[in-house]
Formats: sequence, C-alpha cells, structure tokens
Amino acid sequence: MQSMLAIRFARPLLPRSVRARRHLFRFCSAMATPVASTSQPAVQPAVQQEKKQQKDQKKGKVVSESLYPLELQPPPDFFEHRIKLFEQLKAEYDDQVKSKPREEISITLLDGTTRKGISWETSPMAIAQEISKSFSERIVIAKVDGELYDLERPLEKSCKLELLDFENPEGKKVFWHSSAHVLGEAAERHYGCHLCLGPPTDDGFFYEMSIHDRSVSNTDYPALEKVAEMAIKDKQKFERLVVSKENLLKLFHYNKYKQYLVNAKVPDGTSTTVYRCGPMIDLCVGPHIPHTGKIKALMITKSSASYFLGDANNDSLQRIYGISFPDKKQLTEYKAFLAEAAKRDHRKIGKEQELFFFNDLSPGSCFFLPHGTRIYNALVELLRLEYGKRGYQEVISPNMYNSKLWETSGHWQNYKDDMFTLDVEKEKWALKPMNCPGHCLIFDSRDRSYKELPIRMAEFGIVHRNEASGALTGLTRVRRFMQDDTHVFCMPSQIEEEIMALFDFMQHVYGLFGFDFFLELSTRPENFLGSVETWNEAESQLTKALDKQYPGKWELNPGDGAFYGPKIDITIRDALRRSFQCATIQLDFQLPERFNLKYRSAEDFGSPDKPASRPVIIHRAILGSLERFIAIITEHFAGKWQLTFAYRPFWISPRQVVVIPVAAPYKDYANDVAQRLSSLGLYADVDNSDNTLPKKIRNGEIAQYNFILVVGQEELDARAVNVRNRDDVGTKNKGEMIPLDTVVEKFVELKSSKRLKNQLA
Ligand SMILES: [Zn+2]
Ligand SMILES: [Zn+2]
Repeated sequence: MQSMLAIRFARPLLPRSVRARRHLFRFCSAMATPVASTSQPAVQPAVQQEKKQQKDQKKGKVVSESLYPLELQPPPDFFEHRIKLFEQLKAEYDDQVKSKPREEISITLLDGTTRKGISWETSPMAIAQEISKSFSERIVIAKVDGELYDLERPLEKSCKLELLDFENPEGKKVFWHSSAHVLGEAAERHYGCHLCLGPPTDDGFFYEMSIHDRSVSNTDYPALEKVAEMAIKDKQKFERLVVSKENLLKLFHYNKYKQYLVNAKVPDGTSTTVYRCGPMIDLCVGPHIPHTGKIKALMITKSSASYFLGDANNDSLQRIYGISFPDKKQLTEYKAFLAEAAKRDHRKIGKEQELFFFNDLSPGSCFFLPHGTRIYNALVELLRLEYGKRGYQEVISPNMYNSKLWETSGHWQNYKDDMFTLDVEKEKWALKPMNCPGHCLIFDSRDRSYKELPIRMAEFGIVHRNEASGALTGLTRVRRFMQDDTHVFCMPSQIEEEIMALFDFMQHVYGLFGFDFFLELSTRPENFLGSVETWNEAESQLTKALDKQYPGKWELNPGDGAFYGPKIDITIRDALRRSFQCATIQLDFQLPERFNLKYRSAEDFGSPDKPASRPVIIHRAILGSLERFIAIITEHFAGKWQLTFAYRPFWISPRQVVVIPVAAPYKDYANDVAQRLSSLGLYADVDNSDNTLPKKIRNGEIAQYNFILVVGQEELDARAVNVRNRDDVGTKNKGEMIPLDTVVEKFVELKSSKRLKNQLA
C-alpha cells in the first residue's frame, strides 16, 4: 500500500479487500489475536429493531421480559454430537500426552529466579500456586518464552515464564476473549444459533452468529446474562485439544461458517486447536483463562447486524457485544463510567447547544451551525497562529484529481474502494482521501535546493473517504473531514530537529486543552521498503528526539512501522481517561520515490553529474481530523467547555458572552455592547427576549455562556456593564460593575492568552 498519513480514525487505512482478508487470517471462532474494535468489518445499516430499542430506552420504558425460555429444550442436536467426538479425541490426545517423556525442566521467572518442574506435567498454574495462593487466583494467563499460554497447559521444556493479571493489556484481551466463549455458549443454549466469529475488542468482546427465524432484541439480554451466569457458576474448564482438519470438519459439520473457516484456513493434512467449556466446543487457537469461574461479572452491552466476514455479499448475521470483569466492583464502576460518557456524548451536546447536525441527504458529512463553526474556526485560528510562529507555509490544493495521480501514489491500486470516484470527460477521477500526493506535486512544481529545506507545507485539507453508511457515527466516523495536515519535506539529516520541533508544537497544543499524552515508536517491519541503513539512521534520529524530550516516557513498538517508514503514534487521554490517537508523525521514504522528488544538495552543486538527492517526507497532523477532535473536546469539556470547575477555556467556547438588558429601554445599549465585542472577534449574543431578568440569567447559564453582562440605567449612565462570571462564586450572584472599555480589553486579553482558566486578569 501507498504511503499515507495513518491517522487512526474509526478504522485503519486499509482497503476493504485487505481488511476483509485480514479478518480471515484470524480464523478462530473466538479469536486469540486481539482485534481492535476499530477493525471490525462493515456493519449493516442500523437495524430497525435496535432503533426501536433505543427509542424505548430514551422514553424510559422498562424493557419487557422475553417470551422465550431461558434455554432450548431439548438442546440443539449438535451439542451431543460435538461432545461425543470431542471426548473420544480428547481421550486419544491424553494418551499421547501421557506417553511424552517426563524430564526435569527449569522455569525462569521474570525476576530472574528459577523453579524446577517436570516436562508435560508442570503447568504455569502450578508454579503460580507455589508462589502464593492469592497470586494464583489473581492471574489470568501465562506467557511462555514470549508466547501466550494456557495456565493449565503442561510446560513442554525449560522456558521463561511470565504470569499476567487482568490489568495487563494482554491479560485483559485473553480475559475478554474467554468471556466471548461464555457469551457464545449462552447464545447457543438460548437461541440454538450457529456461531461465527467472537473476538475481544478494545472495550469488551462480541460474538457474531446466525439465528434462524429470530433477531436479537434487548429483551433477550437478561436471559443471555442468566445463562452466562450459570456457565460461570459451573466453573467450566477451558479444555484445549489439537484436532486434525479432517476431524474439525466432522466436529463442525452442522455449521457452514466454521466449515468455511476450517477449509479456508487449515491446510490439508494439518491440524489446529479447539477449546471446550461446558457444552460449548469452539474452533480457537486460544489461549484462555483456566475456567469460566474467573469471570465475576458479565454484561451484554448492545447488539447489531453484520455480515459474515464483513462482506455485504455474504449472509447477514447478528452480533452481540458484552463486557466482563474479574471483580463485581469493576462492573459497577464501568456502569458509572457509561452513564457519564452518555451525558457527555457529543451527538447529544451538539444537538442541545445547536452546534451541528447531520442530514440523510449526505450521510457522514456534518453541517456545522453558527456556534459549531465558531469552535471549528477557533481551532483553525489556533493552528494558523502557530504556523506563523513555527515557519510553516500554508497551501491550498485541489479536492479532485485524475486517477493518474492516484496510480502514481499507489492509492488506485490499494485504496480505491475507500475513495469516491467520478467520471469526468470519459476519464476516471477521485476525491482526495489524503493531501500528500497533491503536496508532492507542489514540491515538484519547480527545482528545489537544500537551502529551502525543510519545507513545512500545511493545508487545512478537506478529504473524503468512502465509509459504509451503516458504520458512520456522529463526528467520530465520517465521510468528509478536514485535517490539520502538514508534510515536511526535509533532508535525512534534518529529521531529529524537525521531530523535536513537532514535539514542542504538539505539547503546546495539547496543553491548551489539558490533555495528557503518551508516545510509541514503531520501527522497521519485515516487509520494509528502502535500505536498512536509511531505516537505521531515521530510527536512531527518532529515538534520540524521544529520549531528549520524553526520557523514559515513550514505548517501543518493534516491527510495527509502516512498510514505507517508521512512525510515532501519540495517544491523548481525556477527562474520562479514555484514549484517542489524534497526532501522528510518520516518516516516508517511499512517496518521494514514487513522485521522483529531488533537491540539489550542497555536494550536488559541486558535481553536476551526481544524481540529485531525495528528500524525506514527514506526514504529520496534530488535531488529526477536526471533526473527530471536536467530538473529543466536546466530551472532554462535557459541553460546558470546562475541564474542572475552574478550567473553562474562553477562547474555544462557542458562547463567550451574552448581554442582558434589565428592561426594554436598555435593549439598544445591550446591542451596542454586543456589537462592540463582536467587532473585536469575540462571540457575543444579546438576549432581548421578553423573559424576566432572572429567567434570562438562568437561560444564559444553561446555555453555558462564559460571561453574562447585565445592563440597566446605572450601567448605561456610566458606560459600564455588570459582569457575572459563572465560574467565579464572588461575582456570580451579585455581579460587579466594570467600565465597558476595561471589560472589552480584558476579554480580548483572555481570548488571545488561550488560558484554561475562565477569569479576567
Ligand atoms: Zn478462544
Ligand atoms: Zn500525508
């Protein structure tokens, strides 16, 4: 695939075909490989029934009880068939294990200590129990020589052993992955359905299934949770078994999806593993928690429709999402978190505060209303001001290009399905999904010398990506968005300095919003492009910059770079401690090759025969997509444009000042005051309604104005205003009369200082 600024939007920038294929690689039913919720296959347009459920929930209707029995009686035929064959194969397998050589092995723990064990007998759990009982109860999974490994599975040889609990990210994935099996079991017992895929996600897990003659409704959730609870009470062991392809096809003969997965992913003559817990037997590479009893709380969170392998040409399926914890208290906390997140939902606040809306005539493209546009523009102004200080040059490039450009950049070959294409005078064109190729044309529009470098080419570029309509979500997953995009064209020797400057820029911007952030460096992958020396040099410069600016505060992600260059991912954390990736810094050695970009270096000038030098491109964005960033800050500030009680950034607020006359005769003066503030670029409104004064003040507070200015005879005579600042208890109740000139000056200062605190100096 072509170089592209890999901002992690709703999903990775992979062509649909590749995404679908990648999904296939993880063939196991409840896949061991963590699948981020961001890479879920296309979801079918919202199901009617789900809409109804949401409506019912909004109306506060109590979810009615299901008319269906808890469990099918008798259970589906395939239960008995599966268990019989499993038990037979398991007995054979156990005999094999018994015949394995028993030798003394040595197990090295993370702290360097070693313990003795016996091959094919000692399990990681046995070692954990030797350490302490309470420790063994807390851990969820082992890592043997760097590979995740079932706690009860016998060790085969001397090894390094790590024991992970739920708080460990890998431990959490295993825990949720195992919980997906429990959900699968509950679904089989309740619906008699045919299971397909059931991976963990970033916040829980889901299982996807085909249910004959019935669709999932939220009235089913209590039954599913009840059956899951029964499975949990049973402390069902996760039993691992290696099964040949031939037997796998027999085992899952009743389920065409499992048949497809086995045929597609298990080569003839080989085998893979299945796992059993209770009556449930599933195709899976594992590993899992030792038994279902480790799950202390499990909740179904939602359901939706989907397609098998995410392909709209395949069968339509139903997907049930859940979350689970090793402690009941954690579920209570999670529910409180959900309630707070719902309160802050940017879609809700956007509507209440009249910031933006969507219309079905252009799904995924936002209409920003006047107050939403103020936020949008405040962000652009912020960046533009910094561009001036930091040596950036802003450009404007086209939105649509002939497909020839996309062939050169590689997008046509790899990304076409995600682009909107159009026919123009019998040729194929496309709307740009990224700005980079256009910026390459600008760089290449004339000869370049090393004296000009680095060129920091910035554009508030509007891009379009063809997201499936059913996958669109508020401002976080859209078809049209604007990026604060920049491409730095520089010499390889300038990388470190440029990266340092980017860190400084990023830190300044995130600081204005009170965001924490952390960084990860992803290095050369196996299928890299270019020379090892170029990579090593670039990686060492990135490492140096990270060590200088953030010593000990960044992580290495070895082998996870894009094939065209190493990258630094920056993740911010909001007021609810949720993580988002907004900024990216991506080095690119490939795009300059594809566009044959050149500059004359100092040495080139001396020797005219020497071929010209290649610049490196740094793709970088700080806010990322402005649409998505607005969603993040709306929720971060809870729509009050405040971080804590004291922190309410005036400069980003769409409602900075409202002027309220105490009675009709002062309407003109109120208009004059607002007009004066507006003429200085402040966002001032007037409330000239017929409401009473207390009502108008209350409305101003509800609308989240930072300041309320009240004017009457006294103020008119003194050319002054009475200032009420909601964040300042002292002025909130009675207000303070201040000359208009002074107030204007202070507001201008407060806006330009971009202080977090909403207080006049
Ligand atoms: Zn599994
Ligand atoms: Zn780019």
